[in-house]
Amino acid sequence: MSSTPSSSIRLSMRGPRLLILAAGVGLALGAQANDHDDDHASGAHGAASSKDEPKVIAKDSLKQKLAADKAAAKAKKPDPKAETAAASGSSGKAEPTSVSMSELRDLIDQKIAEVRAKQAAAPAVKIINKAPKPRAVEVNSQAKQAMAAHGAATVPGLPAGHDLHWEYTGATGPQSWGQLKPEFQACNTGKRQSPIDIREGIKVQLEPIQFDYRPTPFRVIDNGHTVQVNLDAGNNITVSGRRYELVQFHFHRPSEERINGRQYEMVAHLVHKDAQGRLAVVAVLLDQGKEHPMVQLVWNSLPLEKSTEQASPVMLDMNLMLPEQRQYYTYMGSLTTPPCTEGVLWMVMKQPATLSPYQASVFSRLYANNARPVQSASGRMIKEGQ
Ligand SMILES: [Zn+2]
Repeated sequence: MSSTPSSSIRLSMRGPRLLILAAGVGLALGAQANDHDDDHASGAHGAASSKDEPKVIAKDSLKQKLAADKAAAKAKKPDPKAETAAASGSSGKAEPTSVSMSELRDLIDQKIAEVRAKQAAAPAVKIINKAPKPRAVEVNSQAKQAMAAHGAATVPGLPAGHDLHWEYTGATGPQSWGQLKPEFQACNTGKRQSPIDIREGIKVQLEPIQFDYRPTPFRVIDNGHTVQVNLDAGNNITVSGRRYELVQFHFHRPSEERINGRQYEMVAHLVHKDAQGRLAVVAVLLDQGKEHPMVQLVWNSLPLEKSTEQASPVMLDMNLMLPEQRQYYTYMGSLTTPPCTEGVLWMVMKQPATLSPYQASVFSRLYANNARPVQSASGRMIKEGQ
């Protein structure tokens, strides 16, 4: 540090400028994150989401979109929002100056056709390539379910559990999931279902999971099946040369997976998705012990009402979620909630993290038991990292 007056002036000049630069970068990153989040949030609805809408009500149903377009047509001048919504379609042209009812109908038909075309081409469709009926509309509703359950961020504004009549007990409990809907069939007939009791894994040197996590804005939702945290973009893992992005995480009590028969107090499932829609879940077992600082941040933002996202005023550093030691078990399995889609890469951290008895009791007041029973490992390859 120089103590000459001139350099101290220069320093103090530089300070604010750096700050401004930093703020600029922060804004740019934030904008990027939001864009990306929209991709997930509205994936089931195609790429026609308007980025200007607040996230909580970002569900741009066709109806809303049409209403916006209609309003724009009526106003006889291009509405910047409607423009964004119309996105890359041929409707980028100037709005007609005078619109008759029949022209308006044609416009609406055209919009519907565009939206359908986009839905058919939307990346969300890729997630459920494995789903039995690849028809665009059904696939999208399946995508919504898969996302609500495990696959991606819950569609904001849409009650995640709304059309899912499945529970953890009773007539619509895990034994019946496969019969509730044709698209839940894998829950009964699947051969690589999760969770499993992890035992007799083949001990090998597994390549470490490369965690690239950073402090991120987050929102908490009680979706009727669990407490889920939806995150902005920016957290990734790389494993076997494949990069997956963290989309959401949620909790089960008790832990769904067992290790040599032992069940833990809770588990956090960190759900990642790669560009092709393949899922990779990192499971962090939670044992009773010291308070978990990050779990506390989530509990602090528990929403007062179900199916409503509560944004947190602070950021979440997912590195704090991970145990100190990063060895893991790995096997191929499924979503542990309907539709029980298979082809999910599971990585279960060997070392549990801890949460306090009080923190566990907070969750159990909401969900005393939201763990699917263990499924047959049926000769599946389980690898245990050393
Ligand atoms: Zn889970």
